[in-house]
Amino acid sequence: MLKKVRNSRHMRVLVHGDGRVVATAPYRATYGAMERFLFSREDWIKKALSKFASHKTILPGGGVAHYKKHKGQAREFVLDRLEHFNQFYNFKYNRVSIRNQKSRWGSCSKKGNLNFNYKIIFLRPEQAGYIIAHELCHLRELNHSKKFWDLVSAAIPCYKEIRRKLRKLVL
Ligand SMILES: [Zn+2]
Repeated sequence: MLKKVRNSRHMRVLVHGDGRVVATAPYRATYGAMERFLFSREDWIKKALSKFASHKTILPGGGVAHYKKHKGQAREFVLDRLEHFNQFYNFKYNRVSIRNQKSRWGSCSKKGNLNFNYKIIFLRPEQAGYIIAHELCHLRELNHSKKFWDLVSAAIPCYKEIRRKLRKLVL
């Protein structure tokens, strides 16, 4: 994306975390000059892009149609996994909802209602399992205290590693 900016004195190029490349230039700059400038920065841009690519993966979907298409399957999957992990924990939960949230994988309310992001079905099994166990443990500990993490690690001993990888995924 090329942008001419009224108050800028120099040409600049920025690579954003989502992969957008934005070049700005003063109003008087010609497009030829901007193009030459971008070519001169090509290696730097490629390097910056590959760095972001290795750090974050943006998951596909998120639109209403995609959500509607996969919601039922996600619900079935979540209910099955909840049952599986709850053989171990034996906690009581109320309603289970599948949502299309932009920023979270799951949540647990004070009333014991559990919410999960429908994109959980696109995760690796151990990542999905961790999210399920995490929300189940909130039924006992509605916080992220040491007690809470002890509960999580009882079912998922390597949860830290899974969590670290999960953070690299962008919903
Ligand atoms: Zn939590």
